[in-house]
Amino acid sequence: MTMQVTVLGSTGSIGTNTLDVVARHPDLYRIFALSAHSRVDLMLAQCLQFQPRYAVMTSASAATALREGLQAAGSRVEVLEGEAALEMVASHSDVHAVMAAIVGAAGLRPAMAAAKAGKRLMLANKEALVVGGQLFMDAVADGGATLLPIDSEHSAIFQCLPEDPAVWPQRVDHIILTASGGPFRTREPASLRDVTPQQAGNHPNFAMGRKISIDSATMMNKALEVIEARWLFNLQPEQIKVVIHPQQIVHSMVQLRDASVLAQLGTPDMRVPIACGLAWPERVASGAAPLDFAKLSALTFEEADATRFPGLHLSWQALRAPHGTTTVLNAANEVAVAAFLDGRMRFDQIYQVNAQALEGVQPQAPDSIDALLALDAEVRAYAQGLISELAV
Ligand code: NDP
Ligand code: MG
Repeated sequence: MTMQVTVLGSTGSIGTNTLDVVARHPDLYRIFALSAHSRVDLMLAQCLQFQPRYAVMTSASAATALREGLQAAGSRVEVLEGEAALEMVASHSDVHAVMAAIVGAAGLRPAMAAAKAGKRLMLANKEALVVGGQLFMDAVADGGATLLPIDSEHSAIFQCLPEDPAVWPQRVDHIILTASGGPFRTREPASLRDVTPQQAGNHPNFAMGRKISIDSATMMNKALEVIEARWLFNLQPEQIKVVIHPQQIVHSMVQLRDASVLAQLGTPDMRVPIACGLAWPERVASGAAPLDFAKLSALTFEEADATRFPGLHLSWQALRAPHGTTTVLNAANEVAVAAFLDGRMRFDQIYQVNAQALEGVQPQAPDSIDALLALDAEVRAYAQGLISELAV
């Protein structure tokens, strides 16, 4: 049977890699809907190539421009706009699988809609899980969804764990997330004060979206991934460790009770975890080059330097704090990264804003997605206040 797939965030780095894998298997996958925020030209090209039933643009002016472009090209793809349309294409009864690849908390509601509707949910959008936490996992369980991690580290852990989650607590001692260390792994910590967005966005192994590239440079990406792993695999914070592995060949590891360690390896290419999520438990070609072990250079591992990457430890701090604190951390970080990219503050101030937001906002036991998103909005305003008081 052909699987009908909705790709949320199809114009992004994960979105375009997903379409690359889908295009290799026209007999297996068909695109039901695509979504983007504002990149009209790329969305137009994707619509003409994949002929989805729907294309959703969250920006109204972009939706109008896309409609005009499609009409001029004689296409019948229906263009929808706004956030409710995202939830509709994520939960539509004709859809089998949803790739959640919107960046940031903006992706939470549509990912939740797919979870509640019981879809095969391929989750790249780690911020959705960091914000949603237990409520997100409850929606997956209640809806009977199949949650497949796309983040390469979590895909690796998922592939190394036994298939039955019921045995994880007895068998798993801890997990080890690998981190590349980003562009500043060996740079003098004091010199990080004045790095530019261009330098910070220059990841050694991956071409990724702007926000995750900055998160990789601060290692807030790994902090978010620690939180993501806590929910995906139902672990205690102390069962999640991080080690730097600059070559990004070992994508993460699971250490079992007897000290045996299982790892998943592969070339650093996001099409591997994407193909894994699309086909699981089967396997399909991803387009990635296979590893050539005879030509592989040394695989090295080192500790993450807390002076260079102070933000990493905020994840464990947030996980041990009252429920909702990870939402606070994520919201502050989204605002801080945007301010850095806009030239409104320095690179080292991202950590400052995140740490101060954790001190300054105490969540009041949010017990619904609406309450979490209200907290998210409150923290964004608070972080903007902090940023406006900073001296660049
Ligand atoms: P990109 O910035 O490349 O793409 C983001 C996508 O989301 C684009 O399609 C964009 O549309 C859309 N979008 C942006 N803002 C909004 C909004 N407010 N509402 C709806 N749609 C929006 O990001 P990435 O592909 O790099 O990352 C996507 C997610 O996957 C992130 O959560 C990231 O952490 C995660 N991830 C990414 C990896 C990577 O290698 N890139 C690896 C592991 C995880 P438009 O193009 O029109 O702006
Ligand atoms: Mg990752």
